[in-house]
Amino acid sequence: MYSEKEQARLLEETKSLLRFIKDHPIKKLSLEKAKEIVGSLRTVISYHDWRYYVLNDPVISDYEYDQLFRYLRDLEEKFPELISPDSPTRRVASDVTKVFPEVPHLSKMLSLDNAYSADELRDFHRRVVQGIGTEEVEYTCEPKFDGAGIALVYENDLLQRGCTRGDGARGEDITPNIRTIRAIPLRAPLSQFGIHRIEIRGEVLIDKESFRKINQQRLEEGLSPFANPRNAAAGSLRLQDPKEVAKKKLDAFVYQITFAENKKGENLLGTSIQTHWQAMEILKQCGFKVSWGAELCKGIDEVIKFCQEWEQKREEFPYEIDGIVIKVNDIRSQQILGETTHHPRWAIAFKFKAKQATTRLKRVVFQVGRVGTITPVGELEPVEVGGVIISRVSLFNEDFIREKDIRVGDMVLVERAGEVIPYIVKVIKEARTGSEEPIVFPKTCPSCGSRIVRLPEEAAWRCVNMRCPAQLKERLKYFASRRAMDIEGLGERTARVLVMSRLVEDVADIYYLTEEKLLKELPKRMEELGQPRPTFLGELNVRKLLKNIEASKNRPLHRVIYALGIRYVGYATATLLAEMVNSIDELINMPEHKLEQVSGIGPKIAHSIKEFFSLPDNLKVIEKLKKAGVRMAKVEIKGPLAGKVFIFTGALSSMTRDEAKRKVEELGGKTVDAVSRKVTHVVVGENPGSKLRKAQRLGLTIINEEEFLKMIGEK
Ligand SMILES: [Zn+2]
Repeated sequence: MYSEKEQARLLEETKSLLRFIKDHPIKKLSLEKAKEIVGSLRTVISYHDWRYYVLNDPVISDYEYDQLFRYLRDLEEKFPELISPDSPTRRVASDVTKVFPEVPHLSKMLSLDNAYSADELRDFHRRVVQGIGTEEVEYTCEPKFDGAGIALVYENDLLQRGCTRGDGARGEDITPNIRTIRAIPLRAPLSQFGIHRIEIRGEVLIDKESFRKINQQRLEEGLSPFANPRNAAAGSLRLQDPKEVAKKKLDAFVYQITFAENKKGENLLGTSIQTHWQAMEILKQCGFKVSWGAELCKGIDEVIKFCQEWEQKREEFPYEIDGIVIKVNDIRSQQILGETTHHPRWAIAFKFKAKQATTRLKRVVFQVGRVGTITPVGELEPVEVGGVIISRVSLFNEDFIREKDIRVGDMVLVERAGEVIPYIVKVIKEARTGSEEPIVFPKTCPSCGSRIVRLPEEAAWRCVNMRCPAQLKERLKYFASRRAMDIEGLGERTARVLVMSRLVEDVADIYYLTEEKLLKELPKRMEELGQPRPTFLGELNVRKLLKNIEASKNRPLHRVIYALGIRYVGYATATLLAEMVNSIDELINMPEHKLEQVSGIGPKIAHSIKEFFSLPDNLKVIEKLKKAGVRMAKVEIKGPLAGKVFIFTGALSSMTRDEAKRKVEELGGKTVDAVSRKVTHVVVGENPGSKLRKAQRLGLTIINEEEFLKMIGEK
């Protein structure tokens, strides 16, 4: 698409634009100059989009890209007359679509016939040879991505329309969503190949890693996970808000030109575009992402070899590949072969071994995750799915079970999605005998027997008991973490042996540890369990650990609240709560409706706090903490920073933001995250954000890192 010479020129242009941006505030630009710069910016941004999204090989930093992009966006805002639909800033529209209009495709989107074995590929070849009357057939082979099919129409080099596959004859016009996908050019220089109007087929997909993340997020939001990357891509493509679509990080490959004509309306397929391979070259040249790994094969034996090789290495790729598409390369031959009512006769999909199988759901057990989530797990009659024996499958949450109406004893269709997690796609209701039984959720935690809760807007049931053995190690680590009680030396390794040896049965127990217990009792108990001696806990480390535990008794109230590990009470919320109350008891006794009224809290968090403190076990732990001498009330520290309120923006070079905040607190000062008139000092580091502008507007005192270090006595 871009020659080396051209790329060198574009990089040069990028550099000079970056310099220009630095020296020229938009306010001072004339319309004339702006016009020139806008054109230049669009050219270089499109080039960098191509490097990033099509080649996966950017040549400038994200920061530099942002500079270019923002300047263009701001210019267009100041000079709206310069806006054009192919501008890179116009990818994400703000309109929400309620209904996607149905439109006819320029050429029918048929599905492909499938082949499952080498023999079936040979049969296909025989039919091709019969049809075109020669043994010499050249095929193209390309990996078949498991995504959502799309059809793109370009006219005069501009993207006109993007549709879903629909029923093959008509699809849904989802152009605003298609435009958000950066691997799809908004403008493509097709006219240099004499192409005036073109329809291109492609596939929108999600890589396995993003798929995993999307499902994780859906579970957290209380939605059911997608069965496979294809469903995730299709679901994302049909979202009503293009802004949401843009967040999904969709990728797109194109794999066929199905319609191409010149200005006179003459068909170019089979005339000036003679082979499929040539068609793909044209698309590549025009900046599209064409399917990688494609190869030209002479005769069917080469095709079979290609398929077998790919089946071996299918797992190595970041995208789900479910087969190989084989096409007769010569377009005239394709036209001679034509199509049946369902399939073209010149192409076939070789399908890899199925990743689905049916089996029986024997029973359901419930597991407690390390953060208290209760997950139903289905035990299956073992079955092979894509070469792996599956006997267990996650049922995620109650909503998932309800939606699919899964019952114990059901025959279920299982799929190994995204290569990793097995998933129940559906229940085969036709196979029901009437003896299937509904899945009953437990009322109590399978690990500790404590009552479990389901918070509003959540799909998961949870155990919120601080003493729950299944969660203790995680809770202990969290309790000791830097933002919480900050106990150095109490990390994964130590937490593990303390919990395993049962020296610690809740977080308060750490305040009752002694040298005797850690040096004598602990190794003895580990030995009894057949575990290695914890050699990392020697005399010196034990003393240090005990000293750090002792020091943690005096942490400020908001950190104690944070350390308890109440769902939805993060650091900011804990700080908010600590501002409202003087002690933990006040918080425990605060009615739910009063908590709800606090700005930044709301019903979900309030409910979570109430549920937490309503468990007798949790109150017991809090009593134990108090008895051990952990400070659970506010004390004014009369330090040199008393009465001062700090806010930080930008990165400090000598310490992290958290360290700086802690320093301030230790000296009696306060820190906040939102700019207001209460702030007495704004500390500005490298690359400050919008807080600085706000602070300037309010006329607050602004200091740099050096001045800050002086104030806290570090300089
Ligand atoms: Zn529990």
